[in-house]
Amino acid sequence: MKGKNSDLNSQSATPPFDLLLKGGQVIDPKRGTMQLADVAIAGGRIALVERDISPAKAKRVLAVGGYYVTPGLIDMHVHVYPSHFSWGLVADAHSFRSGVTTMVDAGSGGVSNFLDFKERVIDQSKTRVLAYLNVVDNGMGGEWEQDVSRMVPEATAALAQAYSDLIVGVKAAHYWTSKPWDATHAPWDNVERAVRAGELCQKPVMVDFWPRPPERSYADLILHKMRPGDIHTHVFGQHFPIIDEAGIVNPVLFQARKRGLIFDVGHGAGSFWFRHAVRAVAQGFTPDSISTDLHTHNINGPVLNTLTTMSKFLNMGLSLQEVIYRTTITPAQEIRHPELGTLDVGAEADVAVIALQEGDFVFADCGKAKMLGSKRLECVLTVRRGEVVYDPKGLTMPEWEKAPAEYWAYKPPTGA
Ligand SMILES: [Zn+2]
Repeated sequence: MKGKNSDLNSQSATPPFDLLLKGGQVIDPKRGTMQLADVAIAGGRIALVERDISPAKAKRVLAVGGYYVTPGLIDMHVHVYPSHFSWGLVADAHSFRSGVTTMVDAGSGGVSNFLDFKERVIDQSKTRVLAYLNVVDNGMGGEWEQDVSRMVPEATAALAQAYSDLIVGVKAAHYWTSKPWDATHAPWDNVERAVRAGELCQKPVMVDFWPRPPERSYADLILHKMRPGDIHTHVFGQHFPIIDEAGIVNPVLFQARKRGLIFDVGHGAGSFWFRHAVRAVAQGFTPDSISTDLHTHNINGPVLNTLTTMSKFLNMGLSLQEVIYRTTITPAQEIRHPELGTLDVGAEADVAVIALQEGDFVFADCGKAKMLGSKRLECVLTVRRGEVVYDPKGLTMPEWEKAPAEYWAYKPPTGA
């Protein structure tokens, strides 16, 4: 009896949860619900999601009333390999401030440098970094992207299988010619080799179809060349025939969707026009996933960050749930990581707390045009694997007058 009592005592002395997010509107994309609930985290994992969890059960309680609590967001098209590709960003500097806990690098590197990318970026980042492997051996950033002999489906597929947990698919991008096409450099080589790699490793292919020379048509790409489950990113770029002269959505988009093709935003510096996106969304063609293509040439506009891209779609008429859905569970399915983008008990505790602001806001696109809007999303807290990694409102902090003298002291990181 004595032993049992002391167990009970130790249970009440040590609260079972490390962190409790209390009083928020919890959006659970997997269940399709939005309701007032508390989220409890223990050991870096989601421990309980319930209407009213006692604060006594948690070591730390954060009041998040008035905010939306969602799974950590997934931005499935970014560039975060700065040491190889000059457009690359430092992942942690741009993820958490937008509630993003998973970033997918879209083909910055290929088979020649994936291990370097893994060592320098994937293994060093707090953000979960996954990757599409470029079918070109050296990835992005140079003339080698035009050299068909450097498009290596077999090696790409073998590496994708060897690092199956990190490599989510194959990327085709940036393929053109300044002279007539020939047998060593034909219009479809890049796409066909990427699809071949995708077939070999049984993973999806993401296609950036810029530029789009007349020798290869967009309809052919999405109706014939790509497979169900493959992803066309940059869908609202001005270089695709998305909207006809009468303002009507090209019917091939709906045909391609029916056969299982996936359309991703991939906003980028040159691939998002309101003139396409607003009309397409109004006519029922919403993108499957909302991603940024964040890189050094668009972080200062027009992309800025993930939440700004999401806010654009909110102002086009999508509901908050629809926008969250397209940055959590949908990209998780596209990259075949169903364990991500959920608040399931036992899932790694990646959580975003988001404010929906109302007011007068302006959003810019890549065609030097702007859209006025009345809603904007702002991140107020990000939790990665149970740890608070972004807290601009000081939700975890006491006011300074109440802070104890020795509350916190800076400790330099190991090795500094
Ligand atoms: Zn990109």
